[in-house]
Amino acid sequence: MASQVYFWNLRASMKAPYDVRIRRLLARTGFAEHIEGGELAAVKIHFGERGVTSHVQPLMVRPILEELARAGAQPFLTDASTLYVGQRGEAVSHAMQAARHGYDPLLLGAPVIIADGLKGASQVALPVPGGRHFTQAYLAADIAEADLLVSVNHLKGHELAGFGGALKNIGMGAASKQGKMLQHVTTGPKVDIAACKGCGACVNICSARALTLVETLEGGLDGKKHVLLDLAACRGCGACFLACKNGGLTIDWQTDVAGFLERMMEYAAALLLSRLRPSLHVTFVTGVTPDCDCMGFSDAPICPDIGVLASLDPVAIDQAGIDLVSQAEPLWPSHLPQGLKAGQNKFLALRPQLPPALGLDYAEALGLGSRKYELVPV
Ligand code: SF4
Ligand code: SF4
Repeated sequence: MASQVYFWNLRASMKAPYDVRIRRLLARTGFAEHIEGGELAAVKIHFGERGVTSHVQPLMVRPILEELARAGAQPFLTDASTLYVGQRGEAVSHAMQAARHGYDPLLLGAPVIIADGLKGASQVALPVPGGRHFTQAYLAADIAEADLLVSVNHLKGHELAGFGGALKNIGMGAASKQGKMLQHVTTGPKVDIAACKGCGACVNICSARALTLVETLEGGLDGKKHVLLDLAACRGCGACFLACKNGGLTIDWQTDVAGFLERMMEYAAALLLSRLRPSLHVTFVTGVTPDCDCMGFSDAPICPDIGVLASLDPVAIDQAGIDLVSQAEPLWPSHLPQGLKAGQNKFLALRPQLPPALGLDYAEALGLGSRKYELVPV
């Protein structure tokens, strides 16, 4: 059966500016009817790594928080620690990064709570119903224990998952450090010795100590420093791909990326299917960059701003977001391959090695929702 995905195309007026439009959009989902009063509502968001500008901005989130509060819930903004060091690797730096990007409780009426504790160890194990890879998943405790869950998502490309939307924000984003590690376990970097400049940036960021600098003694590159990978020590966190600006480390696409997507969907299933009440998903299809908001920069968008989506079905909202981006005119200059036409899948064009359904077929099979949807303009 097709799920409803509500869509605002960004048109606004004096009578109906942004906050009015967002309220109308949320009202159509019927989510407020599931709020009885006093519930703690986790609003899962990505605050954006330092240097990123295309993440969801605080003023865009405020009407969502106000609507939740008006319906009687007590919303809090939340995310969990990353595997890599960066600015979101533990709760203090993470909360400071949220503050730097304007997530101010006094402005928004909701605090920022990093959901997996000070150092990422606060987690809850939840069963994975029907999982191929896991029987249980490790989720950030404060998100798992919240009475209500709202995902606020920025749709964009992603260097490993292909795209980031609701299911990635939940499946990977709400996982504890251990959960993130278990999802990444078969992925790892590939070293390109010729491209490596021996700067050591990746060595410093690798908490697993899987990278060292060595001198090359062969191939006419004698004495050149380059990085050496100890694959047995690698946790597949991906931090080194982000740290290397020289192409010295890339994702090893020979690894099991389809399996990675399945593991991520199993984490989303563990969290979402454990909940007694439906969860709400709100996706901003704006500033659609080729890479994720962890990258430390926002590259040129691959299509014009499209709109905001809201749904109770995370599979349908992700499928609708991908389809809208695919149908949009491509934008250049951008990272998109030249010659791409409107109608072609931009996320697959950026990363053709990915499975065509980008994991959504497996999400559907797990019972997370439907890839069939009705786009309802609001
Ligand atoms: S792989 Fe990249 S980040 Fe690591 S040492 Fe080489 S150039 Fe520096
Ligand atoms: S080498 Fe492995 S563990 Fe170290 S940063 Fe890279 S992906 Fe993470």
